[in-house]
Amino acid sequence: MSSTCKTIVWFRKDLRIDDNPALATAARDGQVLPVYIWCPKEEGQFYPGRVSRWWLQQSLVHLNQSLKSLGVSLVFMKAESTVSALLRCFEAVGATKIVYNHLYDPVSLVRDHTIKVKLAEHGICVQSFKGDLLYEPWEVYDEEGHAFTTFNAFWRKCVNLSIEPASVFPPWKLVPPAGTVDGCSIEELGLEDELEKSSNALLGKGWSPGWTNADKTLAEFVDRHLIDYSNSRVRLEGVTSSLLSPYLHFGEVSVRKVFQCIRMKQIIWAKEGNLLGEKNVKLFLRSLGLREYSRYLCFNFPFTQERSLMNNLRFFPWRSEHGDFKAWRQGKTGYPLVDAGMRELWATGWMHNRIRVIAASFFVKFLLLPWTWGMKYFWDTLLDADLESDILGWQYISGSLPDGHKLNRLDSPQVQGSKFDPEGEYVRQWLPELARMPSEWIHHPWNAPSLVLRAAGVELGLNYPKPIIDIDLAKERLVDALSTTCQAETTARSANANGMEEVVMDNMDRAENWKIPVVVLKENVSHSTSLSDQRVPSFQNCKNGSASRKRPLCVEAGRPSPNKIQSNDCESETSGTGGLDLHSTAESTSAKRQSTSSALPFMVLDSSLNVEVLQEKGLAYAMKQQNEGTSKGRNQLEA
Ligand SMILES: Cc1cc2nc3c(=O)[nH]c(=O)nc-3n(C[C@H](O)[C@H](O)[C@H](O)COP(=O)(O)OP(=O)(O)OC[C@H]3O[C@@H](n4cnc5c(N)ncnc54)[C@H](O)[C@@H]3O)c2cc1C
Repeated sequence: MSSTCKTIVWFRKDLRIDDNPALATAARDGQVLPVYIWCPKEEGQFYPGRVSRWWLQQSLVHLNQSLKSLGVSLVFMKAESTVSALLRCFEAVGATKIVYNHLYDPVSLVRDHTIKVKLAEHGICVQSFKGDLLYEPWEVYDEEGHAFTTFNAFWRKCVNLSIEPASVFPPWKLVPPAGTVDGCSIEELGLEDELEKSSNALLGKGWSPGWTNADKTLAEFVDRHLIDYSNSRVRLEGVTSSLLSPYLHFGEVSVRKVFQCIRMKQIIWAKEGNLLGEKNVKLFLRSLGLREYSRYLCFNFPFTQERSLMNNLRFFPWRSEHGDFKAWRQGKTGYPLVDAGMRELWATGWMHNRIRVIAASFFVKFLLLPWTWGMKYFWDTLLDADLESDILGWQYISGSLPDGHKLNRLDSPQVQGSKFDPEGEYVRQWLPELARMPSEWIHHPWNAPSLVLRAAGVELGLNYPKPIIDIDLAKERLVDALSTTCQAETTARSANANGMEEVVMDNMDRAENWKIPVVVLKENVSHSTSLSDQRVPSFQNCKNGSASRKRPLCVEAGRPSPNKIQSNDCESETSGTGGLDLHSTAESTSAKRQSTSSALPFMVLDSSLNVEVLQEKGLAYAMKQQNEGTSKGRNQLEA
């Protein structure tokens, strides 16, 4: 390539200079025009929530400063259509090539494909790179060329691929092309509206977005916390997980770099015979593996954003109870551990992995609310909102994965509270109304003697709710739901056996009002698809002005047997069926933040196809899904 080549570098979720293959290639080839395009219309229902947009804005400012120090400015564009914005850039500077790093979420898969086709029609050279993963989703298949549907099998294959991911060096300097693009200021992108500013101001006290801060966070984790990583899986207290998820989501640190740092530590500890260190390294690499797996599932099974990976929830009698949905969101279910988690999420945009599992399981198993609603709410409120990881998490807890939680498993928040928050400190931190409850009763105040309640200033039903549903009733209701599902399955199967056409669909398709509700708690919201009842980031309840947490581990086994409810409160470390371990943990304290196959449906891919064709195949599914949105498309995948 001639050194006068003019290349557009299209930044998306790769907001870093270091180990950025698209940027490195453009810099090597000649002049570089870095562009960030904000196109809310194309985000659809997955328009990012307030805290996520706050993070994005800070990261973009940070990236722009870094690019300027290398010689170019990041062009910001707010557009109705990404492709037309890109074409404007091409025209303005006479560029001939565009480079970007791959994304794998269903929205990006479709959009990137369309853009690629359109740009090619204009004779523009398009080159894309692996910038977000260790292993491309089309690199990892089983012996028959099928996509894996269990994490352990997937990760074993990855590890055995023996690809040691190699990083690319950051450019020393960047040369801008002549010509001016009609961009806008970062404020004009509208990532933060006026109403959100005061809430957002507090986020900066706890978090430091930006790629150099990601590097610091990584270094601190490796030096100080990696050795204790397993603790983050068994208790809710302490600071032992990495807090890297928001950085990883926006590509502020390359996962290859994280992998390499951890591998270096692994080698050192192996030489020293540090068994604890080796164990923790393995656990952490598995966590990175889960992130890889989330992208893998979305690429190979793009329908998972709206339906179960196993076709098992199609007749589940979901309850479309908006009142219960609201109580859950507001942390008013009457179950202290769930409520504390939801209040923390509301206030800070963050929750420990353990609490995510508990709150999400409660949503599905106790309230029988459609998991896609909860998934969307997490998407709207989490600081590290990441479509693929969010989908994986919700599929995992809702019995949708062969190696996830069983659908008939009902964990009592009371028992989990006494296990993971024995002194009740986490609950007290987020539920001031229970601050004076003795530890003995804090996770089940409804059982407390009235004298105790009175002494603690708790009036159930007045200043703290009674349980939204009694545990025994919840069990009964879940049993009924499972038996209804089972009967409907049987009827459908026999209808099919009688030669009638089988309809592959999900219960959620049947009622209009079961669509993911748009949650708006305040007036004058700029984007109707965005959630606004997340506007409460007050760290008031937090110790030392911020949040402190603790994280445990729970693991579970096999598939549900639809007629039995398990009260499985003692969680074993390993899963009987290979244990997809989503309990890697999130940990966050102010200090740390501031410093830094079987009957399963699968997509059959022909291993002789090249990468482009494989990608096209994934795209074809995703596009079909989006364009048709009908059971027809699903039949192909779930037959
Ligand atoms: C219902 C539910 C929803 C979730 N939604 C999200 C989400 O929107 N965004 C998100 O990043 N994570 C999500 N997770 C996964 C997990 O809770 C977070 O990645 C983790 O808590 C982040 O903290 P950390 O960076 O300190 O993690 P660590 O324990 O330090 O792990 C390191 C990295 O590994 C990856 N990782 C760890 N666990 C998981 C996992 N279970 N699934 C996928 N990747 C993982 C993350 O990128 C994480 O940053 C969800 C989990 C559940 C159960």
